[in-house]
Amino acid sequence: MAAVTTYDHLLRDKHGKDYRDLAVYRAAGGYRAVLKAKELGPEAVVGEMKKASVRGRGGAGFPAGIKWGFVPKDTDKPKYLVVNGDEGEPGTFKDNYFLSHDPHRLLEGCIICSHALGIETCYIYIRGEFFQQIATVERAIADCYKAGILGANSMGTGKRMDIHVHSGAGAYICGEETALLESLEGKPGQPRLKPPFPAVVGAFGCPTVINNVETLSTVPLIIEHGADWFLGLGVERDGGSRIVGVSGHVKRPGLFEVGVGANMKDIIYELAGGILEDRALKAVIPGGSSCPIMTPDEIDVPMTVDAVRDAGSMLGTCGIIVIAEGTCLVRCLQRISHFYAHESCGQCTPCREGTGWLARIVDDIEAGRGRQEDLDMLLNIADQIGGNTICALGDAAALPVLSFVKKFRADFQAHVDHKGCPHDQPLPGWTRP
Ligand code: SF4
Repeated sequence: MAAVTTYDHLLRDKHGKDYRDLAVYRAAGGYRAVLKAKELGPEAVVGEMKKASVRGRGGAGFPAGIKWGFVPKDTDKPKYLVVNGDEGEPGTFKDNYFLSHDPHRLLEGCIICSHALGIETCYIYIRGEFFQQIATVERAIADCYKAGILGANSMGTGKRMDIHVHSGAGAYICGEETALLESLEGKPGQPRLKPPFPAVVGAFGCPTVINNVETLSTVPLIIEHGADWFLGLGVERDGGSRIVGVSGHVKRPGLFEVGVGANMKDIIYELAGGILEDRALKAVIPGGSSCPIMTPDEIDVPMTVDAVRDAGSMLGTCGIIVIAEGTCLVRCLQRISHFYAHESCGQCTPCREGTGWLARIVDDIEAGRGRQEDLDMLLNIADQIGGNTICALGDAAALPVLSFVKKFRADFQAHVDHKGCPHDQPLPGWTRP
């Protein structure tokens, strides 16, 4: 097995320093990249972002530099930067790290982006349950105002820069960028029809860049070390290092910083220590619960947006969920389906009704009430949700159902044949929903 190289460019918890402290952050070179960005000039900063090929770390994988380039230059409206810190996808816990341990890295990325795009106001939208993280970021912002990093003359650049924290209220759907904007504006968090896209009509009807926490936290590194250095950590068209979270049935769950393109199987067996109790591997969900499940023979793949897509799934947020042999996948899908049914905002009929149907049919199969025709009924309903809704939550509910039933049909069939769940030896910590 090839050795996986790990980095501590982003994941700096091994340094033994408290980077929440502004003095510590500055002593390690913090906020120097803002001044370097000023010397480079706005066009060169956007150019470095494009050259670095940073694919958005929030799940969609859209190139961040190109997104920045969509913001109109010649508008008389104010422009906004909105940070998506509404991390709520099950299996994903990497933005939490930056918000908890390295908030200045995020703020520095926000300042560089804003100066480059002519933005004076940034909103950091943080998941409502992240009470401590909200307090940590607010403290870091207050320290920056006192130090002149934020305010009327941000770091002596002559540019105004204000950053505000906005707390979510517990709805997963507010991680969808237009629902997030609605919530930010004080309205119910329901996704908007697109187009228009936020780069043109975003927050308060004005041009808006929306980037994920990890994406913006990479910006100081790119400006400090250069796009070529950053690109070299990853692969062509998908640059840099990124943080992979591994959870589920592994011996060493946690966060690991690896170059984009590190092998998924090596990450699971080498960095995360392999499967709990040395059981066989049954399945892997590679990037948060909405991504199609993969079989053990599909995971020998580089973790890039394109490679995981070509392998039939999605890189998503790089939140790998590992599932050991002996686990009931019907019960697993039951958890996932209930989550998406609960989080549907209710605007579109296929999602509002279909997600509930899926959850109830999986309930029946798990409880031994499943009928033979229910297996194909699940596929049929999921097929009709996918692609027929306003936002991607419909797909997020449908894709797990399609992949679980197609790839692990024997598990579902066994529940129908045995009129109940045949798995009576759950792993430690595994409880019935
Ligand atoms: Fe709301 Fe679901 Fe439609 Fe998205 S797909 S807008 S969550 S009902």
